[in-house]
Amino acid sequence: MSVTVVTGGSRGIGAAVVRRLAAAGHAVCLSYRQDVDAAERVVREVVDAGGRCAAVRADVTSEHDVEGLFRTAREELGVVTGLVANAGVTSPMAPLADQPVAALREVVDVNLVGPLLCARRAVQSMSASRGGGGGSIVLVSSAAATLGSPGEYVHYAASKAAVDAVAIGLAKEVAAERVRVNAVAPGIIDTEIHAASGAPDRVRTAVGRIPLGRAGRAEEVAGAVAWLLSEDASYTTGAVLRVAGGM
Ligand code: NAP
Repeated sequence: MSVTVVTGGSRGIGAAVVRRLAAAGHAVCLSYRQDVDAAERVVREVVDAGGRCAAVRADVTSEHDVEGLFRTAREELGVVTGLVANAGVTSPMAPLADQPVAALREVVDVNLVGPLLCARRAVQSMSASRGGGGGSIVLVSSAAATLGSPGEYVHYAASKAAVDAVAIGLAKEVAAERVRVNAVAPGIIDTEIHAASGAPDRVRTAVGRIPLGRAGRAEEVAGAVAWLLSEDASYTTGAVLRVAGGM
């Protein structure tokens, strides 16, 4: 049985990943930061459909919370075999010179330190040399990592470029431990994240920039994540899979 931890699984891309993995037979432990109602709705949906799912309030920037997340997953669902480090934030769009310093720090903390803490904890459980049975990690990056997001949030783009570097380096570091590490880089996906950056209409206003002519759906990212976690991707590690409509 695959047991997979999905951070930020209460909404958006993370919730779609939870549903998709549960349908593929994973037991899923999702985390969220504050929206307990949204988290419980996702759990209920999975359980009603016959799956196994638990939710844990855990801020990915807290080592203590990340430890609690993995401990609960182990106790309630079984040995953890997968991690989807999805939780992430943007900040209100502005050129770097106008960004509050607190916004820069929060984005780097959630989007880079968070995945580092979660991947570190996952590797401790999964590594063959530490008694683990191997596993698979998928980091949710962004097409912004290579586009740079000028005038919007270059700090967000930088945090995601660092996530790509984590996927490449950690994949090499733990390949002999039977742990695969990959990243998915979504383009503009229809979720609530855009409202938080002050652009609730982004999925419509940005269409002209997307070669496929539309924003993506969270389910389309979830499919790529599920593939990277699956045995079909058994020879894929260190990859950054772009799911961005051609951006
Ligand atoms: P979203 O709809 O805003 O959902 C974010 C999720 O992350 C929520 O479950 C939220 O929980 C959780 N979260 C936020 N901060 C957290 C923290 N410190 N600790 C734990 N959980 C936290 O975002 P989304 O659009 O699905 O984005 C998911 C990922 O995809 C992010 O990494 C984002 O950067 C990336 N991405 C998104 C797009 C896009 O266009 N949507 C494009 C490229 C990349 P609460 O609700 O409880 O706060």
